[in-house]
Amino acid sequence: MFRSRPRCPSEIKNKLGRVQYPPGCTERREQMSKIETKCLHAGYTPGNGEPRQLPIYQSITFKYSSSEQMGAIFDLKSPGYIYTRLQNPTNDAVAAKIAALEGGCAGMLTSSGQAANFFALFNIACAGDHIVSATAIYGGTYNLLNVTMRRMGIDITFVDPDASEEEIAAAFKPNTKAVFAESLSNPSLVVLDIEKFARIAHAQGVPLIIDNTFPTPINCRPIEWGADIVTHSTTKYMDGHAVAVGGAIVDSGNFDWEAQGDKFACLVEPDPSYHGVSYTKEFGKAAFITKAVAQLMRDLGSIPSPQNAFYLNLGLESLHVRVPRHCENALAVARFLEGHKKVSWINYPGLESSKYYTLAKKYMPTGTSGVMAFGVRGGREAATRFMEGLKLASIETHVADSYTCVLHPASSTHRQLTDEQLVAAGVGPDLIRLSVGIENVEDIIADIAQALEKA
Ligand SMILES: *Cc1c(COP(=O)(O)O)cnc(C)c1O
Repeated sequence: MFRSRPRCPSEIKNKLGRVQYPPGCTERREQMSKIETKCLHAGYTPGNGEPRQLPIYQSITFKYSSSEQMGAIFDLKSPGYIYTRLQNPTNDAVAAKIAALEGGCAGMLTSSGQAANFFALFNIACAGDHIVSATAIYGGTYNLLNVTMRRMGIDITFVDPDASEEEIAAAFKPNTKAVFAESLSNPSLVVLDIEKFARIAHAQGVPLIIDNTFPTPINCRPIEWGADIVTHSTTKYMDGHAVAVGGAIVDSGNFDWEAQGDKFACLVEPDPSYHGVSYTKEFGKAAFITKAVAQLMRDLGSIPSPQNAFYLNLGLESLHVRVPRHCENALAVARFLEGHKKVSWINYPGLESSKYYTLAKKYMPTGTSGVMAFGVRGGREAATRFMEGLKLASIETHVADSYTCVLHPASSTHRQLTDEQLVAAGVGPDLIRLSVGIENVEDIIADIAQALEKA
């Protein structure tokens, strides 16, 4: 039945950028239509007598039978690996799993979520180009776009994700190359109207790039709603155990680069830095990922170690079990907080009272994430006493891992700011960011309850 299935990494016909779903893989994909099964099986299928668990190919280099055969691989004419700065079999298997989870056609890993977003944008936008981005994005990504990419000569216009289609469309320029947004923003928890953003991007002839870190493909698959490229900080729920920083990019294969050939000459026209290859002509639906590997990874080198890819894979194997538990626990905690006299406000899109409840139900029907924010009555001092009172929840900058963790920006990361400056930055002095873990929910609530009594 599975005679023609590819076996990554030992048998997969690996041509750079085409590793994910080579011909023959369709049959296997149908066998694995459910996401829970993909969390375990996608990306790597051992053959007879081969290791059950994904092997760690901790090898920088690869061996060839002749220099002619080596040359054919370097020309991207025949399958095989070149050098681990570009690709590695362990990394590729994990990238293939994430691509399968997102419903994409090709994927790659990067050494961090920051690198994933930078590569996804820089792959199609260079000096003199322009990007439209939602305002509600992760702080690190905001700095990347607003400071570092501007310094590279790339112009950015930020738009309110809740603005009308006309207002957002007005931000576009003739040199706009992409639209960027987060499906569920960190930390503001804005749920994006993905279909609206896809409509606007496509009407302007550019792809929609969605950072899907918080909901993960378990709760939201942006490609199904029209997104073209999906990115991840795998550092969060995908890893789940806070052991390995990492990122991923998945391409849907749906954007027609050649139809917008003037805008995306970098993908359509010959690349003088890579033997004059035209990525769209040579690699079809895998053009975007192939270029990002062959050009950006080659020159910028942000590859994760195979060991870290292995850790990520272990996390992915239980993603479908962990994420629903995070959401279930978080909803119970959010309901508890909503009814508590010492809590002045709460932001959790899974609550009926949230402004984003309807959008969350549409795009993330099985849940949003374990992350919420709330205000402690009594401002900075009361919130500080609440933090001191916690016994189970740990104080961390991290979010979205198995342990319940909590951050009070006003007394830690943002302590140099005055109350007025904090309000202006959107993180009031009373704000607590809570990332609900997968401990027993009664224990989590009991810990929060006793700490609130001390506030
Ligand atoms: C954490 C995060 C990033 C950055 O990821 P790193 O792995 O820390 O580099 C990007 N986007 C979102 C939504 C994040 O939460």
